Amino acid sequence: MTAVNLLEFDLEGLAAFCEKLGEKKFRATQLFRWIHQRGASDFTQMTDLAKSLREKLATTARVEALPVVTQHESKDGTIKWLFDVGDGNAVEAVFIPEDDRGTLCVSSQAGCAVGCRFCSTGHQGFSRNLSTGEIVAQLWFAEHFLRKHLKRNERVISNVVMMGMGEPLQNYSALVPALRTMLDDNAYGLSRRRVTVSTSGVVPMIDRLGIDCAVAMAVSLHAPNDALRDDLVPLNRKYPIAELLEACKRYLAYAPRDFITFEYCMLDGVNDQPEHARQLIELVRTHDVSCKFNLIPFNPFPASGLLRSPQPRVLAFAKTLSEAGLVTTVRKTRGDDIDAACGQLAGDVKDRTRAAERMAQRRASERTIVLHPVRKTTPLEH
Ligand code: SF4
Repeated sequence: MTAVNLLEFDLEGLAAFCEKLGEKKFRATQLFRWIHQRGASDFTQMTDLAKSLREKLATTARVEALPVVTQHESKDGTIKWLFDVGDGNAVEAVFIPEDDRGTLCVSSQAGCAVGCRFCSTGHQGFSRNLSTGEIVAQLWFAEHFLRKHLKRNERVISNVVMMGMGEPLQNYSALVPALRTMLDDNAYGLSRRRVTVSTSGVVPMIDRLGIDCAVAMAVSLHAPNDALRDDLVPLNRKYPIAELLEACKRYLAYAPRDFITFEYCMLDGVNDQPEHARQLIELVRTHDVSCKFNLIPFNPFPASGLLRSPQPRVLAFAKTLSEAGLVTTVRKTRGDDIDAACGQLAGDVKDRTRAAERMAQRRASERTIVLHPVRKTTPLEH
């Protein structure tokens, strides 16, 4: 029998596992604390558990992190890990330290089926969903590694964003127990405001998440109208902007924050013009969604054929939104020297299912959005 990796379980799942071993449910709480709060993986260390339970665990269970393929640390303190998830697939997690918080960006899938044009992960195609344990393992490893690395006894990671590789709401059944573990006071004890799920707009699952585990919500919007969003975020063809914004409004009834964050990746000549800012203002006014905008500098990669918007244009765009009363931030780039943007390292491991080719074919055959010509003389930034 293969030993079960206990990182797969939220507390309820672990209690059920303990019951199967003939143990009282409360033993699960002790075990959960050992694993997640103390980073223990060796059952012999768990001295307040009965010897008989430790012996049963030794033959039926394990606590195992994902193998680390690479670890890169930026000059600014950002650390990026590439984890091996088998069959030539790898996923990334990134730690971003700031003065008042430590954020871990976590992956939910190996690759991604949504295929956003500006996303390196999307260009690599989809391999498979991560299990709950593979999602939690990123946090478990990072938290306990960082405590040793930074010589800190207290918690280092204060925020988790599900913004790494994959569309979390297309891996819903694994995601929810992982979120519950993040929130559990016997594990990481993160508040619902400090755990963010970022989605490209899987409308039915936004509604379900509100009921099952309402955490903060970020939506990858990236375009102010359906014609452009159909091209940049193909899921828009299934769930157009109006449906998405109505789902956001419904989610706010459950959300721990009173706004949705709209992520908007600034693409030179594509979605960064003054009329796009005006359309965005009109859009959120029409749907009356309480929101904040986060403008994101694009991390160019050759297969995208897209470029980063110049900073003055980004600032002008932000100013237009702000002057209309919309809270707008411009994301600072972090870890540029280690390619910290999602998907940039994993793409070196494997180009899944030749997705780049398929995307190029799709673009050639489908309705074309007129893009600003790529300026060949401008070096791509990495
Ligand atoms: S931006 Fe998110 S949803 Fe879109 S392809 Fe990348 S990982 Fe998938």
